[in-house]
Amino acid sequence: MATKCPVCGSADIQAENVDESLPVPYGPAATFSTIQYTCNTCGESGDFTGENTAIINEALQESISVSASAILEQLSAEGISAAYFERAMRLPARTTARWKSGELSAAALALLRLVCTYPWVLEVSDADFESSVSKSKLLEAAAGVVASVFKEKVSTGQVDVSMSSSQVNIDVKLQLHGQDVVQVTTGTSEQFTYLGPVALLSTG
Ligand SMILES: [Zn+2]
Repeated sequence: MATKCPVCGSADIQAENVDESLPVPYGPAATFSTIQYTCNTCGESGDFTGENTAIINEALQESISVSASAILEQLSAEGISAAYFERAMRLPARTTARWKSGELSAAALALLRLVCTYPWVLEVSDADFESSVSKSKLLEAAAGVVASVFKEKVSTGQVDVSMSSSQVNIDVKLQLHGQDVVQVTTGTSEQFTYLGPVALLSTG
């Protein structure tokens, strides 16, 4: 049966293939070609046959499946084995192997993406979400991010510490790439001076 316009019923329809892509976290973008119909009688356009949803879903599933394997491989390269992942998350053995072979639920995919982004949540889960462990792992991760931003933005630095019986003075001089010297001076609670852009600590 010929495709007809859903608005005016005309069979004077033209079809055009439209190449599109959708990003998939930690995987290749899903690329697909949808069919866009246009009615030459009334001008209505769209997916007259309703076939595009299936086309998009199939492409998304393919990219998601590749991304799940890529995430597990990346974790493995970071020293996080499938066995540890399963033990830390209290999952049955071989769960991740089943995910890899295609039995991947939406919840499993969400968990994989979270762990890939914040691998330290495995240690928090492994410690039964104990409050002090969750806080220290978060601080540790934040310190790592701050250190990497410093490494990226600061070319040289100098830290001077002087102590007396009543106070500790820490003077930090940082040379930012392509910028003037930023000086940060901290002292006791009575004496605190901060000179320099707060943006230094921003990851943006
Ligand atoms: Zn029409």
